[in-house]
Amino acid sequence: MAELDAFLDDVRSELPAVRLLMDPSDREAYRLDETAYLSAGLPGAVALPLTTADVSGLLRLASAHEIAVVPRGAGTGLSGGAAGIEGAVTIALTRMNQILEIDPDNLCVVTQPGVINAELKDAVAGHGLFYPPDPASYETCSIGGNLGTNAGGLCCVKYGQTRDWVLGLEVVLADGSVIRTGGRTVKDTAGYSLTHLFVGSQGTLGIITEATLRLRPLPGPRATMLAFFATLGAAGEAVASMTRAGLVPVTLELLDHETVVAVDDAHGLGLDRGAAAMLLVESDAPGSAAGIELDAAEAAMLASGATSIVRAQDAQEADWLRQARRLALRALERQGTVRMEDVGVPRSRVPELLAAIERITAAHGVRCATFGHAGDGNLHPNLIFDRNDPEAERLTHVVRDEIFRVALDLGGTVTAEHGIGSARREWLPVQKGEGAVAAMRAIKAALDPKGILNPGRVL
Ligand SMILES: Cc1cc2nc3c(=O)[nH]c(=O)nc-3n(C[C@H](O)[C@H](O)[C@H](O)COP(=O)(O)OP(=O)(O)OC[C@H]3O[C@@H](n4cnc5c(N)ncnc54)[C@H](O)[C@@H]3O)c2cc1C
Repeated sequence: MAELDAFLDDVRSELPAVRLLMDPSDREAYRLDETAYLSAGLPGAVALPLTTADVSGLLRLASAHEIAVVPRGAGTGLSGGAAGIEGAVTIALTRMNQILEIDPDNLCVVTQPGVINAELKDAVAGHGLFYPPDPASYETCSIGGNLGTNAGGLCCVKYGQTRDWVLGLEVVLADGSVIRTGGRTVKDTAGYSLTHLFVGSQGTLGIITEATLRLRPLPGPRATMLAFFATLGAAGEAVASMTRAGLVPVTLELLDHETVVAVDDAHGLGLDRGAAAMLLVESDAPGSAAGIELDAAEAAMLASGATSIVRAQDAQEADWLRQARRLALRALERQGTVRMEDVGVPRSRVPELLAAIERITAAHGVRCATFGHAGDGNLHPNLIFDRNDPEAERLTHVVRDEIFRVALDLGGTVTAEHGIGSARREWLPVQKGEGAVAAMRAIKAALDPKGILNPGRVL
């Protein structure tokens, strides 16, 4: 504690522009991210820098005093990556929220990390440009957090994850030094790709203070369709058959029966509550190509046993159908504590993963609602339980481990887009192998020799 006080004294005298939150109730707001089922520490202080120089000064002093630091964006993460560490300093990048330049000539945008994803999308759309990565939380999560987690979202099936849209970063390293990993060139093979290394490193290797992101021309309005199925297996088969048919819709999302009913209960959207599963399919192909793409998707879904199909007639209706998916997590949270998992498998194995989730949760009597980015092979089984019941909580752990084992046996991953964070650490060596984890530890030791950056996360 004395060391923390000495660090804070130095911050106050050397970095007067940095806002410090010391009041316990203010710090309490930075204890958790969106992993409500985890417990986390109370930050000893919360620092709110405004500039790269502030972040650099903070890390230089944290390094000198050997104070642990938790980088944080908007705190919507689902792996405990930005959750507090008892007595550590949380550095929240929320005040670094300026879009620095939109560059239509080079199809890129330069931004600070605290900008909210939806605000960046809106700003570039004003120039006829498009930034595709769109986590379902896009109205609340920050670009810095998206970079920290390599966020996915609803259009990865066509456009990939956040990492695919990063040209270069400015990063403050653990000792306070500032580096740049790339710029506005589309191609760059000079040296190791540090850009790719920092994206997804969950604040354990450095703090991202600026990003140059790729853009593309804004596509036209989307064509949107919902399909309902009598069995979960038929919906899984429809997903696999669309991939087999070479279809690459911009969105291919799945909601199971529990999720459809929860969303309908919460928001009265008039969904088919008797269906075992629902798929949301969207196309942003230009002009009439969108309708043709949806026709092909519809044929594949009917051949797999879709019982009914609804197409949006206009943009407003499309938005309404899309809401069904975006509201899923919040609707489920009305029913208990939600432990959201994030497994991914090769797309052809989605039907097997869905069957395994059903089998495992039924065998243990654990309530589960599954939705997710089925077109990427990425599903979110949400285990719903009463947090005051220790046995129920223990069972969610057992179920999670069994689902992870199945995902790995199917050639998949224990986390496709939310990250290892603090929630899934013990599974990293199981998935990647001890040798790969040793290589990661060597990189961590080289970049953060005192281990001050987000300790206990990822590794
Ligand atoms: C309703 C809901 C829906 C969601 N849907 C999706 C989805 O579809 N796809 C998806 O991928 N995720 C989804 N998420 C999870 C979450 O929104 C994403 O992980 C998002 O990228 C986190 O952004 P954030 O700003 O909240 O980051 P935080 O939670 O604050 O931080 C996330 C991680 O990034 C690190 N970090 C933050 N800023 C920086 C920085 N500047 N430099 C270095 N490291 C940093 C943190 O240390 C932490 O490890 C959803 C969450 C919710 C609540």
